[in-house]
Amino acid sequence: MINERMLALGKEPSAIRKLYAYGLQRKAEVGDENVYDLSIGNPSIPAPEAVRTRIHELADEDPVVIHGYTMSPGLREVRDRVARNLHERFGIDASGDQVYMTAGATAALDISISAITHPGDEVIVNAPYFPEYRVMIETAECTCVEVMMTVPDFQMDIEALRQAINPKTAAILLNSPNNPVGCVYSEENVRALAALLEQKEAEYGHPIYIISDEPYREITYGKDVPFTANYYRDTIVCYSWAKSLSLPGERIGYVYVSDNIPNKADLSAAIAGAGRALGFICAPALFQRVILACIDEPTNVEAYRENRKILTEGLSELGYQYVEPDGAFYLWVKALEDDAQAFSDQAKKHDLLIVPSDSFGMPGWVRCSYCVAPETIKGSMKAWKELKADYE
Ligand code: PLP
Repeated sequence: MINERMLALGKEPSAIRKLYAYGLQRKAEVGDENVYDLSIGNPSIPAPEAVRTRIHELADEDPVVIHGYTMSPGLREVRDRVARNLHERFGIDASGDQVYMTAGATAALDISISAITHPGDEVIVNAPYFPEYRVMIETAECTCVEVMMTVPDFQMDIEALRQAINPKTAAILLNSPNNPVGCVYSEENVRALAALLEQKEAEYGHPIYIISDEPYREITYGKDVPFTANYYRDTIVCYSWAKSLSLPGERIGYVYVSDNIPNKADLSAAIAGAGRALGFICAPALFQRVILACIDEPTNVEAYRENRKILTEGLSELGYQYVEPDGAFYLWVKALEDDAQAFSDQAKKHDLLIVPSDSFGMPGWVRCSYCVAPETIKGSMKAWKELKADYE
């Protein structure tokens, strides 16, 4: 018999994917330039030239080798290289033994959640949050507990987290820079969370992990992003090159189990076990090799900074309310009515595709991706203006 939950997930794609699919269809009807698709986080800037060069070089190597299986956790030299990168950037004494290469951050998160939870456990997310977290947590038969961030500064609400944590809490998921709000948690905020978790761990006598989801780590507009593992012992880092190197379709990332964790070898073994159980072994072999050569390539943040400027200045002029993003490439805009879905539907009438906030765990807002061509943002201003007029 078909599994009802999987059927429901397959039949009802995420709000982001639904709008993205609609956008593709609508573009075919009225032309690309007439649809302002701010739905999905697909980077608009090309991957660095070094990626193309490396792919060309690899194409000339022995196909039996380059297309062959790697060890399940990934190529030894790639895992060691990731560890060196973490050491060079954040000073942590990282070892390749604690790095497990994955098919993007999604696989990294799925594996991490499975490795440290049992059915019935709770995993806390700071709302608003990336909607797929709920799917991942519930697939592990755990409860997704939403704790709202503080408004309007969008930091973790330490007091609310204190109330939410209980003996069933297995982990708290952090995402900074954040999708969908673009906030970056301050060092003080991360320190306060670490102190709270240390206290709760001591009280309950079991670890409460931070799972730090960091696909936007490099995309910031001036604020430092504290490296969570330097503040809290029981940290598992999930990373992806989808955004930093514009490689979302190549599915390449990793899990890093902090070397500060006393039973790190067992935890890394559990990560490998979860990878095996869920079918996430041997991350894409070609792109493991690309990463080996390109890991130090810089991220083109300037393109997103410029887009952020065009969008925020345009919306300010029209009188929209939004959260000034410190990182990632999303703008969180207040809907002009309480019902975000209705507002998104109204925007659709002007071929402006913006994602309603409900599945992100905060009603009344929309998320706008600005990882698009600047022309799309400039062109969208007409639609934003008409949309505003609809409510006046
Ligand atoms: N986590 C966050 C916060 C994201 O925004 C995304 C993708 O947009 C992912 C994880 C998934 O990343 P990947 O495509 O590497 O699986």
